[in-house]
Amino acid sequence: MDVIALLKRIGSGGRRETLVARLPSLMPRRVSIGRILEPGFPALEGRVWVQAKDEVHRLLLSLFGLRVHVEDRGAADAASLFRRAGIAPQRGVDFLLSRLLPARSRRQIFLGQVRESVEAHRSQRVASLLPASHRRISRRTGLAEAIVATFEVRLRAGLEESRSGIGRLIDAGGELMSMDAWRRVVARQTDADLVVTNVPLLYGHRDGTALHALIRGGLIGGFVSRDVRRRRFGGTSVVTTHPLVSADPIVASLRGERLATPAVSRTLAALMAHELVHLVFAADDNYSHERCLMRPPSGLDFHRFWLGDRPVLPCCRCNRHVRVVEVLERAGYLAPGLRGLRRRADGAGRAGGRALDR
Ligand SMILES: [Zn+2]
Ligand SMILES: [Zn+2]
Repeated sequence: MDVIALLKRIGSGGRRETLVARLPSLMPRRVSIGRILEPGFPALEGRVWVQAKDEVHRLLLSLFGLRVHVEDRGAADAASLFRRAGIAPQRGVDFLLSRLLPARSRRQIFLGQVRESVEAHRSQRVASLLPASHRRISRRTGLAEAIVATFEVRLRAGLEESRSGIGRLIDAGGELMSMDAWRRVVARQTDADLVVTNVPLLYGHRDGTALHALIRGGLIGGFVSRDVRRRRFGGTSVVTTHPLVSADPIVASLRGERLATPAVSRTLAALMAHELVHLVFAADDNYSHERCLMRPPSGLDFHRFWLGDRPVLPCCRCNRHVRVVEVLERAGYLAPGLRGLRRRADGAGRAGGRALDR
């Protein structure tokens, strides 16, 4: 069976893992992983971390036929890395809100950018990501307005009302939670292709217009920074374990039930695999591929979305994308890390345009 026929059969179901194994093989990738931890936030048990590293290997092999060799570079302390990067973590709620939310004078421009992102998807899909009260909206301008309003309300609630969890720690380390500050911190390190932290990561209006990141009130599972051209893959993936284990009210409401230990390690592995596919193959997020690793949930219920009763399966369209990138890379048309590829995603339609993915 040729490649096209194999891909079509993956799309139509059947024994998808067996079909993926018959696709042209991908180059194995060596991936170094490091942890950047902050004692003020919940930590993972050691065995959860060990299991997650094993599981990410198994997941990428079964979903994409990709072999990764994971090298663990150990753990570093977040506060000292921030200090070395010249970022003072001692900023309060108001500072963080002013950084993350669009100012009144910029809100209209931001709405326009969000509307452009909405246009890339079917309106019905976008509406289905929103809280129930907004699901009947069908016009794109209305959807963009509902997304920005949900972002503003949830982010404020997360930071101001949630004094027991994230809010309590804000005054001690507001900047520690900004995705933009993390991008500056990981740009300085050269050890890890994938950084895992226990600090919550907050997406702001300058970070882009990822619809699911905005709808979650800025709380993200991870992102890719493509600033670091000298890195093996042209950048660094960052993943946070905070949404998986935090008891913070806003996190718990977006996640749902508390996760048992095995679910934490499997969900973490899925998050790491998701961000690695963004990093290595520049695959985009999507809201329409059925049971696909690259389809982010609109809440923080990664476990339910990716591993619940209907766990992720090999995806025809993402496997096709990954193979095309691999062929171009092998032929020398693309540098590893895909510098120069996907100009549209890098620039137009996504403010800032430097860090793309959540
Ligand atoms: Zn897919
Ligand atoms: Zn993503």
